Amino acid sequence: MTAEKSAVYLDNAATTPLDGRVLEAMLESLEGLRGNPSALHAPGAAAREAVEEAREAVAALVGASPEEIVFTSGGTEADNLAVLGLARAAPPGRRHAVISRVEHPAVREAGRRLEAEGFEVTWLGVDGDGVVDAGAFEAALREDTALAAVMWANNEVGSVQPVEELAAACAERGIPFHADAVQAAGRLPVDVRRVPVSTLALSAHKLYGPQGAGALYVREGVEVSPLILGGGQERGLRSGTENVAAISGFGVAARLAAGELEERARRERELRDRILAGVREMEGVRLNGHPRRRLPNNVHLTVEGVEAEGLVLFLDALGYAVGSGAACSSGGHKASPVLLAMGLGEREAFSSVRITVGKDNTFEEVDGFLTAFRQAVGRLRELSPLQAG
Ligand code: PLP
Repeated sequence: MTAEKSAVYLDNAATTPLDGRVLEAMLESLEGLRGNPSALHAPGAAAREAVEEAREAVAALVGASPEEIVFTSGGTEADNLAVLGLARAAPPGRRHAVISRVEHPAVREAGRRLEAEGFEVTWLGVDGDGVVDAGAFEAALREDTALAAVMWANNEVGSVQPVEELAAACAERGIPFHADAVQAAGRLPVDVRRVPVSTLALSAHKLYGPQGAGALYVREGVEVSPLILGGGQERGLRSGTENVAAISGFGVAARLAAGELEERARRERELRDRILAGVREMEGVRLNGHPRRRLPNNVHLTVEGVEAEGLVLFLDALGYAVGSGAACSSGGHKASPVLLAMGLGEREAFSSVRITVGKDNTFEEVDGFLTAFRQAVGRLRELSPLQAG
């Protein structure tokens, strides 16, 4: 294992560092629990108890009952399970889905799979701030709609969607509604008693828990067809021996997030606003996403005359880790579909960076970042061929 250099970490939308209290619980689980949670004996019962304790904590974070929580390998699997599972469980005549254009690839690609299976998908656009229009959403719903999916908050630009209105429109018509709350949970109040979603995706590593653990909330009575078949764990919705240590860590992370939510959001907002104030005066730097209805930790900027990857690497060399678009969809050199859906051009999309603070960042770190950012942008603009055009 190579230890990383100690960069100032400002890419919390990609993943959050593991909380020390979560690590402790995971180590306890790895060292102390030997049994398979499905086994009848005492070691099995102890493992089962750890899983059920975590289920209660995750349920409590979103106002659900423990029986409505299905543990998965992460947010991606939870999104896949919701989109494919709701569609495949729908009555035979329902072969239509409504999905927003700004979904995470975990939802978007599941929607494309539905198209390959013969479903018709209405890909719903957004306004310049990345927000779905509730009227347009309602107009897209049909008699044969099997499901609709709009995320709670966007992982790239941080815009928060009017999920309460959208979910209510679906509930009135008896259409299942899926919300990806991977970025929202632990940052915004997410409560399934207030918002009538049918399913809700969660991921542990966005709230200081481990990577590779997530959950799908499935409202009681909602039919979902499983993706993974086997021993029937997780009420038959997700077979396979549970990842007990990761689930235990997720449980602790969820409990801490619920208890510290307000304090974390307040601090993140202060850090975020300090960054915004620092870049406001810079020429050719624009904020993307909704100016107010946005995640408390997200700053997404288009920096004219600068190529995002170059900026990320320059900042990395100066000791600051930020994101170029969405980490989860990085790899290919394609413009972000989210930014294109918001009306940005390709060039603007390739000139955009995401800075996402976390609960443990400090004002000193943010001030240091601002100095590094100005330096990096200035230097890259001097060098950039984009600047000439
Ligand atoms: N949904 C959103 C909004 C995300 O931001 C992410 C991760 O970046 C995912 C889903 C996927 O979650 P995971 O990385 O746990 O598979």
